[in-house]
Amino acid sequence: MDRRDVVRGLPLYKQGAAPGEGAVKLSSNENPFGPLPSVVEAVNRMLSGFNRYPSMSATEVRSAIAERFGVDTAQVAVGAGSTEVASQLMHALAGAGDQIIFPWRSFEAYPILTQVAGATPVPVPLTKDLRHDLNAMAAAITDRTRLIFLCTPNNPTGTVLHTEEVEEFLAKVPQHVVVVMDEAYCHFNKEPGSVDGLDLLDRHPNVVALRTFSKAYGLAGLRIGFAISTPDISNDLRRVATPFTVTALAQQAAVASLAVEDELNERVDRIVAERTRVFDALVEQGWKINPSQANFLWLSTGDDTDRVDEALTSRGVYARCWSGEGIRLSIGSPEENDRAIEALAAAAN
Ligand SMILES: *Cc1c(COP(=O)(O)O)cnc(C)c1O
Repeated sequence: MDRRDVVRGLPLYKQGAAPGEGAVKLSSNENPFGPLPSVVEAVNRMLSGFNRYPSMSATEVRSAIAERFGVDTAQVAVGAGSTEVASQLMHALAGAGDQIIFPWRSFEAYPILTQVAGATPVPVPLTKDLRHDLNAMAAAITDRTRLIFLCTPNNPTGTVLHTEEVEEFLAKVPQHVVVVMDEAYCHFNKEPGSVDGLDLLDRHPNVVALRTFSKAYGLAGLRIGFAISTPDISNDLRRVATPFTVTALAQQAAVASLAVEDELNERVDRIVAERTRVFDALVEQGWKINPSQANFLWLSTGDDTDRVDEALTSRGVYARCWSGEGIRLSIGSPEENDRAIEALAAAAN
């Protein structure tokens, strides 16, 4: 297909609705807590210097990440959010005629970024219980496969992958195919036996752990994410990166965030407690929901989705809805969650 036809065929990314005053925004899986004072201070210190370019090698933040996770700085690559790092992976590793496999439904950026990189998306449907179908994903591998994305916990269904099943899967993946573990929500995952991408790196040089500061760390508006992989893959990512996309503000905010992880984890625990509370309330109301290990819940509303979404928005509650499929409700502050519980009670059959 002509390049421009490919671009014209792409959907415009649909951001979670931005509601007006008095409404609650539970549509983008953001952290409901405002930035910590020490992180604000770090950003403030940079404000007087933004006539200068940021560090392109981002050495300070990369070494802070490396130290935190016990890897070499050469194994860390950063981008303006892990969405950009995902795009770097695609541009570095796949081109025209190459295939990128990912679960579906999953992160909406996968098919878009794949096509922008000129490669072909190979979406593999989730199982009935909304988990990755790893057997089907392994069966989808061809000579043209270059990259595979696994998303755990999966956006938008909240399901997680376990170490054993991922090891079994990796045994079927050829060495030259890179497997990306997209772990944007890993901090919220409390399920025993869950896979941790970083634990796989030693034995599987074709694995990349993809993480972000946007969710648990609450830096969504500043844009910084990172990949940990072999130095070779990491260098390739830095080769294809658009120069200077990670601002000095984002770099310093990330360094400051790593220094206050205990405080951030305490917030994560509060969000996880709220997740349980909201889940229980909605199950009680009769909604069909899978347990979620992320900072959102997935309501399988199917054909009823538009009606429920309308009921929510008419009460000032904005979730993310996929017509005909379901609704993803982010976990917000207790007050915001109460609003969502009330609005859903009114919509329950
Ligand atoms: C939010 C999210 C990301 C990362 O977002 P950035 O803000 O670009 O770091 C990555 N993957 C998934 C599945 C997400 O939901």
